[in-house]
Amino acid sequence: MVYVTGFRCFRCGRLHKPYEIERLPIPRCECGSAVDAEYDYKSIKKVILRDEFMRTPATHWKYWAFMPVKDLSKCISMGEGSTPLLENKRLSKTGRLLIKYEAVNPTGSFKDRGSALEITKALEFKKKKVALASTGNMGASMAAYAAFAGLKCKVFIPDIVGKEKIMQIKAYGAETILVAGDYSVAMRRAEEFVMSNNDSFLTGDYPWRSEGTKTVGFEIADQLYWHVPDYIVVPVGNGTLIWSIYEAFHELALVGITDKIPRIIGVQVENCAPVADAWENNLKEIIPVKNPKTIATAIACGDPIDGLAALRAIRDSGGFAIKITDNEALLARNLLSCNGIFVEPSGAVAYAGYIKNKLEGTGVCIATGHGLKDMYGLE
Ligand SMILES: *Cc1c(COP(=O)(O)O)cnc(C)c1O
Repeated sequence: MVYVTGFRCFRCGRLHKPYEIERLPIPRCECGSAVDAEYDYKSIKKVILRDEFMRTPATHWKYWAFMPVKDLSKCISMGEGSTPLLENKRLSKTGRLLIKYEAVNPTGSFKDRGSALEITKALEFKKKKVALASTGNMGASMAAYAAFAGLKCKVFIPDIVGKEKIMQIKAYGAETILVAGDYSVAMRRAEEFVMSNNDSFLTGDYPWRSEGTKTVGFEIADQLYWHVPDYIVVPVGNGTLIWSIYEAFHELALVGITDKIPRIIGVQVENCAPVADAWENNLKEIIPVKNPKTIATAIACGDPIDGLAALRAIRDSGGFAIKITDNEALLARNLLSCNGIFVEPSGAVAYAGYIKNKLEGTGVCIATGHGLKDMYGLE
């Protein structure tokens, strides 16, 4: 039932056999870059019954054939996905704008989609514990899914994360380790931990998460009755979300369900814009930003794990990257909430990018995390 044929490196292009990546404590290419799962699309085409696939309601596990799962009966689910695609004409400037409201996931962010798959894999690999670095939302998400599945969870938290997010992680019973430094420092600590504890499973922006996150893209196409929007605006932290959305549309085209790919537009904040900088300067590598300071804490990833993937999503789709200020993110947050859609500052970054640009046609902004998670500036 698994259609993964291999994992390809984003930087050097090397194709790894599935078991070569699965047995690694840190699933990455020898060259240091992230890898991407490739599938046997002919088999997927045979196994999904096209008419039924196109008509049944959009839910996360409906797209299991595009995920590396061995046994559907063992998938862990807390009702992630099936998030609404909202249209509010007061929020659009030109053309048609839809908001994919990811705040309604079980722990309040889109991270639950990747967590559902990562916890399913941790159980398949017979691990007892999951460990990760997180700017808050992924920690809360993994802590919840681990607790639900009966696994232990250890979260390394950089110093930028807000109190509410740490409380949410603790509420689910996870162990929290506060790290002096930014996300990259916390990530190294998490990776060191799994290297010396082999009953632990490293989670975070590694290949499994990205495969689970693709369902944001599948759902958008599905909810538009398989009409592909002209563009999708996405906030970029580690770059996993933007890559996963691109990959979802790419794969739908590969199996012949859709026939085009939307322009993928990445938005970062000025103080932490390594991907937007690389795009503007046409670079082949990402130049890390040290100790990023921004109120959009969920996207404060100075050395993004999927930075090259994010760049590829933007370039291959004919999209672009832009920067906004912290203040523009807050203004966008207020505009959304005054129209009934409450998001945290990072969750408004895509909409802030939309406001700043003149985009034609039908577009979607991803509203990534719930407003209750971080109410900066509302007191
Ligand atoms: C994680 C997150 C992002 C960024 O996603 P990446 O996959 O790291 O690029 C954006 N907004 C919110 C609310 C998040 O939790």
